[in-house]
Amino acid sequence: MTEHKQVAHQERYAILKSMLEDRRRDIQDRLRSRRETLPAQVAEVKDAEEQSVQDFVQDVELALMEMKSETLAQIDEAIRRLEAGVYGACANCGREIAAARLKALPFATLCLECQENEEEARASVRSQETRMTRGFATTLGSVKAEGEL
Ligand SMILES: [Zn+2]
Repeated sequence: MTEHKQVAHQERYAILKSMLEDRRRDIQDRLRSRRETLPAQVAEVKDAEEQSVQDFVQDVELALMEMKSETLAQIDEAIRRLEAGVYGACANCGREIAAARLKALPFATLCLECQENEEEARASVRSQETRMTRGFATTLGSVKAEGEL
């Protein structure tokens, strides 16, 4: 690695690491504030209707907390991969995924170019299939016409 590349690599590492750690802190803070408000709500006396609304809200809150915990685990995993030097590389071409893209999509596995190529390829396979079906129908049509002669 050249000196310039080494510096760029370290900068990218620092940017991605602080990005992932900010996200982790943000989620941890939200989880903590939720946990602190829950017991106080439970302690209040409610009538049945209020209680069922309360239960529903708590179920939603718990589901959200679970989702956040999962995201947290994904972020931890991303940080581990970053430290191992395997985070943020495109699964298709192996090039580095742009830091801006990772900020928007921390768990992206393809670079923007490969993502777009893949979407184009999917679209062109569809139109190719349509063309092949049409071509086959035309061939069948001409074979039939010849047979009739
Ligand atoms: Zn790529």
